[in-house]
Amino acid sequence: MSKEVLYSSTRGDKGCIRASQAILRGLAPDGGLYVPDHIPHLEKTLGEISGLSYQETAYEVMKLLLTDYTEEELKYCISHAYDSKFDTEEIAPLSEAGGAYFLELYHGATIAFKDMALSILPYLMTTAAKKNSIQNEIVILTATSGDTGKAALAGFAEVPGTRIIVFYPKHGVSPIQEQQMVTQKGQNTCVIGIEGNFDDAQTGVKKIFTDPELAKYMDSKGFQFSSANSINIGRLVPQIVYYVYSYGKLLKEGRIAEGDPINVVVPTGNFGNILAAYYAGKMGVPIAKFICASNSNKVLFDFFKTGEYDRNREFVLTSSPSMDILISSNLERLIYHIAGDSAEADAKYMKELSTDGKYEITPAMRDQLKDFYGGYATEEETFKTIAELFDNASYLIDTHTAVAAAVYDKYKKETGDKTVTVIASTASPYKFTRSVMNALSKGDDSKDDFALADELCAISGVAIPDAVTSIRNAEIRHKTVVAKTEMESAVKSFLGI
Ligand SMILES: *Cc1c(COP(=O)(O)O)cnc(C)c1O
Repeated sequence: MSKEVLYSSTRGDKGCIRASQAILRGLAPDGGLYVPDHIPHLEKTLGEISGLSYQETAYEVMKLLLTDYTEEELKYCISHAYDSKFDTEEIAPLSEAGGAYFLELYHGATIAFKDMALSILPYLMTTAAKKNSIQNEIVILTATSGDTGKAALAGFAEVPGTRIIVFYPKHGVSPIQEQQMVTQKGQNTCVIGIEGNFDDAQTGVKKIFTDPELAKYMDSKGFQFSSANSINIGRLVPQIVYYVYSYGKLLKEGRIAEGDPINVVVPTGNFGNILAAYYAGKMGVPIAKFICASNSNKVLFDFFKTGEYDRNREFVLTSSPSMDILISSNLERLIYHIAGDSAEADAKYMKELSTDGKYEITPAMRDQLKDFYGGYATEEETFKTIAELFDNASYLIDTHTAVAAAVYDKYKKETGDKTVTVIASTASPYKFTRSVMNALSKGDDSKDDFALADELCAISGVAIPDAVTSIRNAEIRHKTVVAKTEMESAVKSFLGI
């Protein structure tokens, strides 16, 4: 048996807690994120892993990091999460197109990669509540730039002992994303638009979370908060799986030899997905370069180039809204690690970020970022990439994936690097139909997104997923819109307290 992995806050709250407790809390009381005290190495060889199914790979990874869950508990969570909700038995197929491998992470219930983690989080969370004898109802509070919200709603709807409240920027998500959320069924679900952007929503949620008075009041009423955002370690750990799995898949198909390095390209917003790749690397997956792709909100590109993180800039609305983010929450975990697992250093930087909107890391820390490459794609480059890949390789990708593919093209031109590369394909093209049709020069402002989906289907031959057809005429159940200062009262009102 390997040593138990314990979790502590990136900002220094003393004392370590177990995985199930970290999942229940979501965010640490001091506002920090939970990080593992060590990252175990995979027990099986890469060759052995190449023979495993997605579910079996998930168990191999999760048992090492969620050490206080029993084998039976983990296998229960995994088998209920990764089942026929996915439209392919492979769960995450790997498709070769245009000289790269696209890891399609959008075959779940809500057609974006957030399903990969959010279909298992409710099981991990309710199992954690049982293990820790929690009597309170768990209130999941989530800020979304579009995709997390729906995936979390789908995961938690009708789950006994939980309620879920989602805040989204009223004018910052795609029509299909909004329609997906406001038609959500389930008595325990609540969806609220805010007059503000994603960062406002996320900041508001963090504030509600870390208010000790409110926590006490909630407890007296039989409630406690948790988070389904990618700050929750229960979101991060399941994401490590798909990098382990895709390496195994490449190996099995003979695209690489055991031990060969690969590159990964990740379209990045909150830095959760790419951080999972970084952890996969620490667990023994040979990843040479972590290519971090941003859209025009290129705060991470600048950070990797200069060592300074500076959010003082204009927030740009792009055609890849799930990456329209200026505060990438999960970067905090990387900062903590490259500062030598120093909570003191991390807390100092995060304080600077909240007071000045920026911080600059030391040269020694920058040295540890050598395996990261930051790139960004403009709207024009993103659209061109969609069109080229479709015209030349008959492969259709969404706008977020296109940001990654465009950055990868630039990276290849700049470096000549020929390492086998996996691009995280994070959403179905049908989630962002209008933008994809515009990219193919088939946009039509007089048509709604559903009519455009029909046309995209006719052009591409790619079937319209259930997630889109089923919301077409669904009843709108959630209509509340509030100012960003009214988030707390909206929560109380939904809970009836
Ligand atoms: C959330 C999301 C991203 C960004 O992922 P992070 O883990 O926040 O970096 C990229 N693409 C899509 C489609 C998403 O939904």
